[in-house]
Amino acid sequence: MIIEKEICIGCKRCQLYCPMECINYNENQRKCEIDLDECVECGICLRSNVCTTDALKQQELDEMRKLRQTFSNPLIPHKTTSVPGRGTEEMKTNDVTGRFRRGHVGVAIELGRPGTGTRFIDVEKVAMAVALIGVTFEMFNPVTDLMVNKATGKIKDDVLNEKVLSAIVEFDVDIDKLEKVLLATKQVANNVDTVFSVDLACRLDQDNTSPAESIAKKLGFEPYITGKTNVGLGRPLFKEGE
Ligand code: SF4
Ligand code: SF4
Repeated sequence: MIIEKEICIGCKRCQLYCPMECINYNENQRKCEIDLDECVECGICLRSNVCTTDALKQQELDEMRKLRQTFSNPLIPHKTTSVPGRGTEEMKTNDVTGRFRRGHVGVAIELGRPGTGTRFIDVEKVAMAVALIGVTFEMFNPVTDLMVNKATGKIKDDVLNEKVLSAIVEFDVDIDKLEKVLLATKQVANNVDTVFSVDLACRLDQDNTSPAESIAKKLGFEPYITGKTNVGLGRPLFKEGE
């Protein structure tokens, strides 16, 4: 996004709408300007219609700016998954597709939030940390699509410095390895310049308890159960025991 200096009257109204707080007021010029290194091309400032002079303009986006836009603007679907926003809903739909089998856990690590965002260099750090344990990255996920090596989690070098509002590293892991995965997330949290949350999805045991929850609690996590439960109304893609 850009601000046309000749038109901007420096009213600062747009500043309040930017989730990345990257619209700055230039005291000398008495106008606002956008820090393009921090701008994630989410489009919120423009969609808010807050600018009375039409100084906010969507510039022509090159490939890297488009990458920012697809991860940050919820109205634009990713080419690889056709899903808007962070580009994945496999974790959300697993309850109707029976995606995660017994003995497996679906893990989604959601990096970045409004006000913080995330660069792909941090996304890569997280992906590479869990890849060492032996995980299967989700195929229908735009972060996986950016990997040059899906065994190591290495992401294309030319996108590493790009910043987006949020991105999800998503994978399936054997439940025996979940403890190592969670410990790896704790370790890597000290080395990333953003925040992240960890989502776990698994099938309940016969007594209706979650095996993933007990492992997380044992390691000092305080899981928040969202109550998203499969009651069997979907179309499982495989039968129990397969
Ligand atoms: S596009 Fe989004 S991040 Fe960029 S200036 Fe506008 S609101 Fe801020
Ligand atoms: S709302 Fe428009 S005129 Fe006011 S500071 Fe922002 S870009 Fe400039």
